[in-house]
Amino acid sequence: MKNPADVSVETSNAQAVGNIDQATGGISPAIHPSTTFLRDENYALFVEGNSYSRDENPTYKVAEAMLCNLEGGADAMLFSSGMAAAMTIVQTLYPGDHIVAPRIMYWGLRHWLRSFCSQYHIGLSFFDPAEPNALERAIVKNTTKLVWLESPCNPTWDILNISESAEIAHSAGAILAVDSTVATPVLTQPIKLGADFVVHSATKYLNGHCDVLAGAIVAAQDNELWQKMREIRLNAGCILGSLEAWLLQRGMRTLFLRMDRVNQSALVIAECFEKHAKVKQVLYPGLPSHPDHDIAKNQMTGGFGGMLSFRIHGGENACLEIVKRCKVFKRATSLGGVESLIEHRYSIEGEGSPVPRDLLRLSIGIESVQDLISDLTHALG
Ligand SMILES: *Cc1c(COP(=O)(O)O)cnc(C)c1O
Repeated sequence: MKNPADVSVETSNAQAVGNIDQATGGISPAIHPSTTFLRDENYALFVEGNSYSRDENPTYKVAEAMLCNLEGGADAMLFSSGMAAAMTIVQTLYPGDHIVAPRIMYWGLRHWLRSFCSQYHIGLSFFDPAEPNALERAIVKNTTKLVWLESPCNPTWDILNISESAEIAHSAGAILAVDSTVATPVLTQPIKLGADFVVHSATKYLNGHCDVLAGAIVAAQDNELWQKMREIRLNAGCILGSLEAWLLQRGMRTLFLRMDRVNQSALVIAECFEKHAKVKQVLYPGLPSHPDHDIAKNQMTGGFGGMLSFRIHGGENACLEIVKRCKVFKRATSLGGVESLIEHRYSIEGEGSPVPRDLLRLSIGIESVQDLISDLTHALG
């Protein structure tokens, strides 16, 4: 049963794009733990498309249909993690091809790109988003095959202009993939701005409860490259289990509600601590003081999100003292869950990290904003 065509994305997302349990009428879509599916007497598949769960499973399809709806894409695929999704795109490249990516991005992927590209003789250049025309200058015409963006960039929250980057990538013969984990489809829809692929660590906001590891790619078009990615997922087996896919659709149904809350709380917290004596700078795209605030206003149509960073007077030691005193904020990595997290990124990324040592990253959850403010006020001392 599909939703009426004229309802908003918000409504269809809350109702799992019309998926109910067809067999029982259950309002919640069913979970299908089966790894293998029956054939009839004539050896035709009992249900076309259901064969073996490394390729397809009806439970994946619910979450995939929801992702397509959210991003306005042609098709979507789930993966076992955000990294598995990202690497599936990278693995469509050949030796001699070239990738361009921002200097500040999810560190795990930056690290793995370096290692993978050097092993497979794929060129890799990083550009500084703060420098004008840096992306254009990093591109090698007819050799750059993939422009990778992350916006907002983790953990300084620079905003990259997606529609401009799409034009630059396409005129050089490259595809544009955008890691939109932090923005979520509620804030920004990269496909509408010209991206070819949107990548998510669904582990973060999409699931929203820090209890599922998952990734996703949403494609603007079902084309040859997309079929190549489907083949990679099938053969590499980088697929999640049906329980995780089911939990993900459940988490995604409250995405708009959660984003609404974190948009509000993060902005209040950013404004509240911008003038604090211990805080050198608050990095949040929703603040007029943020260098990319104007791009953010145009591109982040659904709010500025729940991620912000504080740069602290007194550097690394002062940061670690503050973190020690937090009681409501949990000291943990990751982001996008219902509970607020605080992290000293440099300690996690270590030597060679481009992240300033005086930076604390905050993932704002859905708790009472007053409790969060009190906790930070106490911790900052
Ligand atoms: C966490 C994260 C990833 C990696 O996702 P996993 O699900 O942990 O594999 C990629 N990009 C961003 C922006 C992330 O925050």
